[in-house]
Amino acid sequence: MPLQIVHHPDYDAGFAVNHRFPMSKYPLLMEALQARGLAGALNTAEPAPASWLKLAHAADYVDQVIGCFVPEKIEREIGFPIGPRVSRRAQLATGGTILAARLALRHGIACNTAGGSHHARRAQGAGFCTFNDVAVAALMLLAEGAAHNVLVVDLDVHQGDGTADILGDEPRAFTFSMHGERNYPVRKIASDLDVALPDGTGDARYLERLAAILPELSAMRHWDIVFYNAGVDVHAQDRLGRLALSDNGLRSRDEMVIGHFRADGIPVCGVIGGGYSTDVPALAARHAILFEVASGYA
Ligand SMILES: [Zn+2]
Repeated sequence: MPLQIVHHPDYDAGFAVNHRFPMSKYPLLMEALQARGLAGALNTAEPAPASWLKLAHAADYVDQVIGCFVPEKIEREIGFPIGPRVSRRAQLATGGTILAARLALRHGIACNTAGGSHHARRAQGAGFCTFNDVAVAALMLLAEGAAHNVLVVDLDVHQGDGTADILGDEPRAFTFSMHGERNYPVRKIASDLDVALPDGTGDARYLERLAAILPELSAMRHWDIVFYNAGVDVHAQDRLGRLALSDNGLRSRDEMVIGHFRADGIPVCGVIGGGYSTDVPALAARHAILFEVASGYA
């Protein structure tokens, strides 16, 4: 079966090519997936309505983003102004993760070609993240009764502070973040489980830590779904990452996570998370690894 993939052309909000946030990675990732013959089951994301977004975010902030009147101070924390294209993009990326989660429940695995905006907190966005798609999707599934126990495995190199903030008082959700200790955010918000790695951590040490933790997560309770943030900013060539994983290390990591949960029949919803490089085609190829690995479990 082809992997269920969720995408939308408007994930690309059309930033200038030299913007600190490499927006063109979204269409390039889609091209990379097509070139690899992985885009056989494409689903189109729809914008998440305000009522869904408000499950995870303060109502006034949701209204500010949808109406494009976010205060400048918050826009500065996010890292870009929220105009109509960025606002739509944030709603689409969130709707995409919700759709991917539903597809994962039905098919076992599904991936969004965006998502993983884990720095967006309940009160507001931050760190290139407008809405926290994974937190919204987790709370949606819980509210509908489609899931009763939700696990977030966040392996983006940055700590998942926003997800921890939003899901911290939700006992049916467990947040795990493994990240670079010295990376953004400076002030971390504790996840249910945090593992902080020193600068320069490479494949062997990284995979060893991860391999020890995954069985512990499975032993806690039966998970109805796992949200997997497969950020590639752990890569040695990432501009922001400070860690030192190789392409093979990324592939082994994704294989380890997806294989671990799929072996127990647990649905996995993959989101791409962060990745920063001026060589955007190389970056898109790194993000494509998640889809290559996930296709083996579709
Ligand atoms: Zn990141």
